[in-house]
Amino acid sequence: MIPPIARRFVAGESAAAALEHARECNDRDLKVILNLLGEHYTDPVDADDAAREYATLLEDLAGTGLDACVSVKPSQIGLDVSETRFRDNLGTIIDRADEHDRFVWIDMEDHTTTDATLDAFEEFVTARGGGMGVCLQANLKRTREDVERLADVPGKIRLVKGAYDEPATVAYKSKERVDEVYGQLLDYAFEHYDDGIAVGSHDPVMIDRARELHDEHGTPFEIQMLMGVREDAQEELAREYDVWQYAPYGTQWFSYFSRRAMESRKNALFALRAVLGR
Ligand code: FAD
Repeated sequence: MIPPIARRFVAGESAAAALEHARECNDRDLKVILNLLGEHYTDPVDADDAAREYATLLEDLAGTGLDACVSVKPSQIGLDVSETRFRDNLGTIIDRADEHDRFVWIDMEDHTTTDATLDAFEEFVTARGGGMGVCLQANLKRTREDVERLADVPGKIRLVKGAYDEPATVAYKSKERVDEVYGQLLDYAFEHYDDGIAVGSHDPVMIDRARELHDEHGTPFEIQMLMGVREDAQEELAREYDVWQYAPYGTQWFSYFSRRAMESRKNALFALRAVLGR
């Protein structure tokens, strides 16, 4: 069972709990991106199980009327086994999403996976004619080219700053530089993307910039934030824009929760207060 302290960041251990969380979010005008926790599976059985669980989740979502979609990690559905396994499992998920007309996001992991992830995304989204999105990370030096590459491909991109500690050969290391590049990528994307951009950030500066760019270019956009982070802002922004809350669930919640709790001093203090009971 997930302790209350972790429940702030994790929707529950089961698909049923995740759907219940999605309903509560929808009641607050937040749409929901459901992510089954788990990554870096080297046993194909684990990867296939995860793909099946996503397929079942998509079945469960059908007919609920919930405004929800899914986001999958490549290494969760087979990329650490082989590219073929990853694509086969992604295909299983996409087939089910097609049947039930649901959007599928692909998370982006460390830089060694970027090519395989983007190649698979481009192939599937082109065949599907949209209905999918992929995450791109501003801290990677290659991302400007990737954003340009995907501009004429159907589907959406989720622009994030990047969560992985990458080597300086491939990534910008200073926060200032990553922020600067993130802003430049927003500028480019709002000018060149028709299918929409997801601003995957809690940063008020970047969100304000996206709002201004939206006013200037009219490009559709949505804001995506993590469950448990700036929830008040999520609700406030949802009065004016599409806000999607990324809500992880599953039994493997501990490491995800630890990362979130330690990520910022604010979250760490929250965790400490909860432990101390005040
Ligand atoms: P930061 O640069 O960390 O902070 C900027 C400002 O935002 C802060 O000064 C503060 O004002 C505000 N802020 C940030 N956090 C908090 C907080 N906890 N409480 C209050 N205010 C806060 N990364 C990947 O590498 N791959 C992915 O697939 C991926 N998917 C993501 C999906 C979503 C929906 C989101 C929101 C993030 C995702 N990330 C992903 C993580 C991302 O790369 C960043 O590591 C993470 O979002 C932190 O960057 P930031 O832009 O939110 O803000």
